[in-house]
Formats: sequence, structure tokens, C-alpha cells
Amino acid sequence: MKIDLKIEPLESWIQAKSNPLLIAGPCSAETEEQLVATAHLLAQTGKVSALRAGIWKPRTRPGEFEGIGSIGLEWLKRAKAETGLPTAVEVANAKHVEEALKAGVDILWVGARSTVNPFTVQEIADALRGVDVPVMVKNPVNPDLSLWIGALERINGAGITKLAAIHRGFSSHEKSAFRNEPMWDLAINLKTAAPNLPIICDPSHICGNRELLGYIAQKALDLDMQGLMMESHIDPSVAWTDAKQQVTPAALAEIIDRLTQRQPEVKGAAKDVMAELRAQIDKIDDVVFQKMGERMQIVEKIGNYKKENGITILQVGRWDEILNKRIAYGKALKLSPEFAEKLLELIHSESIRKQTEIMNKEQSQPQEKLTHA
Ligand code: PEP
Ligand code: MN
Repeated sequence: MKIDLKIEPLESWIQAKSNPLLIAGPCSAETEEQLVATAHLLAQTGKVSALRAGIWKPRTRPGEFEGIGSIGLEWLKRAKAETGLPTAVEVANAKHVEEALKAGVDILWVGARSTVNPFTVQEIADALRGVDVPVMVKNPVNPDLSLWIGALERINGAGITKLAAIHRGFSSHEKSAFRNEPMWDLAINLKTAAPNLPIICDPSHICGNRELLGYIAQKALDLDMQGLMMESHIDPSVAWTDAKQQVTPAALAEIIDRLTQRQPEVKGAAKDVMAELRAQIDKIDDVVFQKMGERMQIVEKIGNYKKENGITILQVGRWDEILNKRIAYGKALKLSPEFAEKLLELIHSESIRKQTEIMNKEQSQPQEKLTHA
């Protein structure tokens, strides 16, 4: 799938101070001192391109700190005046948009809990109509690429062309080392659908802890994401929100320094080596596809035979046998059991789909004739 977004490049609205581009700041603005002091330390690292801070916080339960509110806009103004850092806040309704714009906030972002709701996104988009301000759209809480794309389309449809996506991971009921599962394939699919859309990774909300931040940030760079948004607090141990995932500005600078930069473009001698290896891969992929086609033709024969002889499509014993045999074979070929199983499941479900088609053909034909009679 391709989506058509009218996009201005990231460089046209944010000046990168470092590679990767870094937007940083506390999860929440708590006090004027905390915000301004954090901003100064972040600016001093020389690596930060914009200051983030939440002032309206979407909290799961009432009674938790729900953000300092509009007064935080004044603190952001002061932080910007003293450090020169452009500012960014989360907006979740039309009133937030109006107030943030009036206060001169430079970049707005739509949070994960807002992206899930098309009404909310449309309200934000309508409030943005006719305004030239950069907007970043976080992925929805749930792993639904269409919802993410839909939100980007709504904001873009309101005339916002300084647009970026933020990948902050997805809710999952499965136990994991992460607060929000990265599910990188969704971000990769978004990139494939809209190659001109910048994607910024938010390792803080993916990790939910400090320890894995560097690992996720590196992975984001290796997937050619355009920047990072990371939470940083002058004293994370006393942060009012998301304390476990925030780091001091100094610790953040260290994480950034440890990242390895890799080239997205292949140049020079590497180009020949890559071309040769890719040609080998293409050849093998051709064979895989050819064999897959042959396999499916046999599946059709089996389907016809089963139909003629009244045999069920699925025979659990046969499936278990295929699975176990192939996973063991895969292991010998250095294929991970997870990969072998996923691949077999994909092939198997296509085989079942084909055979079901064959079975149903016979049953539905007389009915069709009847209705046409
Ligand atoms: C945040 O950036 O502090 C935030 C609330 O993030 P998310 O919308 O990703 O949960
Ligand atoms: Mn947060």
C-alpha cells in the first residue's frame, strides 16, 4: 500500500544539532525550576534540537498527576528564551492547540492515546487548519497501522505539511522486557507506505526503563529513522511521571555518544559487494517462489482428491508431523525455530485457503445456478 502525503522535509522545520536529531525534555513539566534547569543542561550538551515537555498529561486513572496545565506554557516560553531551544508539547484537543499556538510553541505532537480516536484527531486537525506549524503523530496505543496512517492523513488533510510520525511502541498483553512492544515491522510498513514521511523513534516509551534505551535508539538508527525523542529530567528519581524511563541530560548525552552511525546509502567498493550479494539473493528468491508455485499446484491436486473422496481438509496429525520434521530440519540449516514455524504456518494457511476454495466451488455452483434460473 502507498499513501499520498504532502510532506516538507524535516530539515525545513527543525535544525539538527546532532546526528541523530534529538528532541529531549522531561515527560512532564512539573515546576518552572525543574523545566528551565533541565532545558539548560540539555542545551549545554549541544546535541538537543528541541525541548519537549508534557503539560496536559493523558493518565490512565484519575487522581494521578494530569499535567501542570496552561501555566506550563509560560515556563516553556522562558526555557526557550534562555536556551534558544524550540519547544514541543502534546496536544489532545482544540483548546490545547489554540493555547499552545498562542504561546508560541514551535512543534506540536499528538499522543498515542489520541491517535486511537479519529474524532479527537479530526478535532485537532480542524483546529490546525490554516496554521503553519510542525506536527508529529505518535503511533496509536494498539498495533493498528491504518489508525496511525489515518491520523497522519487527517492532519495532512488540514494542510499541515511539516509532518512526522513518532514510533513509541504498542500495547501487548504478552510479557516482555519493554513497556510498549516495538513491533518494528509496523514502523517499517509505514515507511514503505510513505517513504517521504520522517519517522522519529521514542525509545523512552518503548522501554519504560533506562537500561534498554541505548539498544532501542541504536536499532532505530539502523532502521534509518530520522531522529529520536527521549525523556530527560534533571533528577529522574523524583520525577512525577515516567520516573523509571527518564535519564539526566548527562546520561542522555552519553547514550547518544555511544550510538554507531551507519550509512543508509551504499557507496564505493561496498556497492559492488552489495550488488553481487543482492544478485545471489534475487536468484534464490526466484527459486523459492518457483518452488512455492509448484507446491501450491500439488496442493490443488490434493484438494481435488480430498473433495472427490470426502476427506477433510485439515488432518492435525499430518500438520504436526510436517511442523516437527521441518523445524528440526530448519535447525540443522541454522534457521530459528520461530522463523521455521512462522514460515510453515504461512504456507499451510495458504494451502488450506486454496483447498477450501476447491471444496466450496462444488457446493456453491448449484446454488448459483438456482438463483440465476
Ligand atoms: C509522552 O510523550 O509523555 C506520552 C504521554 O507519550 P505517549 O503518548 O507515547 O504515551
Ligand atoms: Mn512520558
